[in-house]
Amino acid sequence: MSKRDYYEILGVDRSADEKDIKKAYRRLAMKFHPDRNQDNPEAEAKFKEASEAYEVLADAEKRQAYDQFGHAGVDGQAGGFGGGAGHSSFSDIFGDVFGDIFGAAGGGGRRSSARRGSDLRYNLELTLEEAVRGVEKTIRVPTLVGCGTCDGTGAKPGTSPKTCGVCHGTGTVRMQQGFFAVQQTCHACGGSGQVIEDPCMDCRGRGVKEETRTLNVKIPAGVDTGDRIRLSGEGEAGAKGGPAGDLYVQVIVKEHSLFQRDGSNLYCEVPISFVDAALGGELEVPTLDGRVKLKIPVETQSGKLFRLRGKGVTPVRGGPRGDLMCRVVVETPVKLNEKQKELLREFQATLDRKNSSNSPRKNSWFDGVKKFFEDM
Ligand SMILES: [Zn+2]
Ligand SMILES: [Zn+2]
Repeated sequence: MSKRDYYEILGVDRSADEKDIKKAYRRLAMKFHPDRNQDNPEAEAKFKEASEAYEVLADAEKRQAYDQFGHAGVDGQAGGFGGGAGHSSFSDIFGDVFGDIFGAAGGGGRRSSARRGSDLRYNLELTLEEAVRGVEKTIRVPTLVGCGTCDGTGAKPGTSPKTCGVCHGTGTVRMQQGFFAVQQTCHACGGSGQVIEDPCMDCRGRGVKEETRTLNVKIPAGVDTGDRIRLSGEGEAGAKGGPAGDLYVQVIVKEHSLFQRDGSNLYCEVPISFVDAALGGELEVPTLDGRVKLKIPVETQSGKLFRLRGKGVTPVRGGPRGDLMCRVVVETPVKLNEKQKELLREFQATLDRKNSSNSPRKNSWFDGVKKFFEDM
């Protein structure tokens, strides 16, 4: 069977940098990880394929060999996920791929068997009102928790894990492949340095189990899209006695039908009739605290911004409350009946055409156009 191109598998360009490769792999790993696709051989094959591609392309030395010699340059070196050791758990994926993103999940912990649980991210959608006022939310987070049956060791109660005979507990082995000598993760123990001969039946030797947890999250007032709330120790359970990771609740504020937010200010558009714009008047406009009156001065032009002080958002990191900016937009009347049209024509006839004193902007615009053509 001929192998697919590693770049093609990950869907990245040949010039992709380390970050792009990581990102692409993370996406595929999340999608096809066997923990999330149980009894789905197709997903498992895809996962292995992506993992193999990542293992090579994420390693500068292997990538160079692959770029130069293709699969022949790296064959036999990758494919650790396809070996008899079984696939790494979700924690490993997060630990390796997400470790640097969250600046956590100790990458150096691979060699010792205790491993910090991975950090998790939960995307929480809020309405604008919830984000501005703060809210308490109940969320359900699928996560891995320590297995109670084996106390997280992965070994059947009464037995204990043995030192791996292949790597003698170091978690890595040296491989000689043509002209390359590389140190790689031990396939027999998956890098943990220990093997479990009698796996715990409840967790199938992984030491952790999947569980959906219900958590209450207090969202402080003033949060915005991109803010995240860290729940310390609410991430995945650590493996083999390691500490739990953290849970990051990532805030996403849904679009609002009336208001757009920009930092601490809110913006809204207020359509007004051209009669109100010309004669002035009073409008009711919505704010997050209820309706307020907005005075429209006479001769208000379309697009004018009115500032309602203190009707914006109090930023979550402190500072004064922002303003509500109302942009009035003059609406051209539609579906006019004959009488209305007649009135408008009558009105039109009364306008000062000669000096255009009723329409100074139009007047100066036409002057500009005239000058433009004369200069041509
Ligand atoms: Zn167990
Ligand atoms: Zn080993």
